[in-house]
Amino acid sequence: MAALFLCTGDKVKQIFDAVIIGGGASGLMCAVAAKRKNRSLRVAVIEKNDRVGKKLLATGNGRCNLTNQNISAKRYTGSFAKKSRAVFERIDAEKLLGYFKELGLLACMDSSGRYYPLSKQASSVLDVLRFACERLGVIIFCGENIKSVKRNRNGFYVNTPDTEFECKKLVIACGSKASPKLGGNASAADYLKNLGHSFIPFSPALCPVKTDSTLLKSLKGIRANGKTSLVRKGKVIKSEDGEIQFTDSAISGICVFNLSLYAQNGDKITIDLLPDISEKELLSILYANKRRFSNLTADNLLTGIVQKRLAQAVIKYSGTADFSKPCSKLNEAEIKRTAHALKEFCFNVKELGGFEQAQCAKGGVPAAEIDEKTMQSKKCRNLYICGEAVDICGECGGFNLHFAFASGIIAGESL
Ligand SMILES: Cc1cc2nc3c(=O)[nH]c(=O)nc-3n(C[C@H](O)[C@H](O)[C@H](O)COP(=O)(O)OP(=O)(O)OC[C@H]3O[C@@H](n4cnc5c(N)ncnc54)[C@H](O)[C@@H]3O)c2cc1C
Repeated sequence: MAALFLCTGDKVKQIFDAVIIGGGASGLMCAVAAKRKNRSLRVAVIEKNDRVGKKLLATGNGRCNLTNQNISAKRYTGSFAKKSRAVFERIDAEKLLGYFKELGLLACMDSSGRYYPLSKQASSVLDVLRFACERLGVIIFCGENIKSVKRNRNGFYVNTPDTEFECKKLVIACGSKASPKLGGNASAADYLKNLGHSFIPFSPALCPVKTDSTLLKSLKGIRANGKTSLVRKGKVIKSEDGEIQFTDSAISGICVFNLSLYAQNGDKITIDLLPDISEKELLSILYANKRRFSNLTADNLLTGIVQKRLAQAVIKYSGTADFSKPCSKLNEAEIKRTAHALKEFCFNVKELGGFEQAQCAKGGVPAAEIDEKTMQSKKCRNLYICGEAVDICGECGGFNLHFAFASGIIAGESL
């Protein structure tokens, strides 16, 4: 059923049963779920960008890693992580994929348990959501600049320069500050605080980690595989295997992104550049290289093991400053330190990369203020919150989109 149009003064008034602020992953899914549950509900999505789902199109390098075989509350941080168990019990990966299949999307899994659309195009995911909205009669407003969100006894009022949207139920699905170029901002915090919520400020997550290491300049542009570990006061907090990318001020890559979720200033990130070779084994390889490359300069000790520039940085890090001496002149302590440096190449965490480089943000509405069975606010009746506006953030691998979609479905079915 179409929305009701009334005119009051200069402004158009549009009346809906439910208005969803944000036409991203959680908002579009919420709209679809609401209409699938109750076709007669008049549902609108209000989107700031000139089109919906801009961020969705950029996910998974344009391929959209939409969920993961191993969805579990353990892969998330934030106050809502514990409560997310209830969300995932109701909507696990299989359920979500089934839901998407009913919308027309087929998916496939890679060897790490990450699901992508079979087409390997994020646009397929957005298209099935857009087409479902169209089919089901969701009204989408794009390019809207919301000036205020208010509430009185009769309902909610969302005001843009030209229109007043009135609704009984309101969903905040406008995401976080991550990736401002794709629409990220903190408006969820403003709206929700006005409606009586507390809000844990957004901070960047799943982003490069800046370090103060002087070695980075020489490592810029290098990619290497290894095992990264986040270390706090000598204790390993989390480890991740994968490709590490070096920039002139930070270390990056999916494995580093995942550590960034838990990293604090003062932590260290250590890289084991040869996780499949023990330090003892490595020592005998380096002693052999000392003989093999005896007449060559010291930086050749790691020839055939790691890339040249990385070898030079590791040897420098190990404390051997003079590369001009021949390998034959390296003493036992220097060989041992080099072997150790390959196993524990260490960087201090200075700060996390900014929102521009972040895939997600920590922060949002604290768990205590949301009912996980409906995603309804406990502070404000008929208000619902989903996606990144909730204080939860998952690891890379489809976990964040899974939460966005699952919380969107739950909110939508509860409207
Ligand atoms: C580059 C990149 C790659 C990523 N890849 C993956 C991946 O492969 N897998 C994965 O699980 N996660 C990935 N993520 C994270 C994932 O995209 C987000 O967690 C997810 O989109 C959050 O959904 P959401 O609905 O909360 O927010 P969004 O999808 O960001 O949607 C929010 C929408 O609200 C709109 N909006 C904002 N403010 C307003 C306002 N005031 N008024 C109206 N509309 C507003 C925005 O324009 C946007 O369209 C990636 C993120 C980035 C940046």
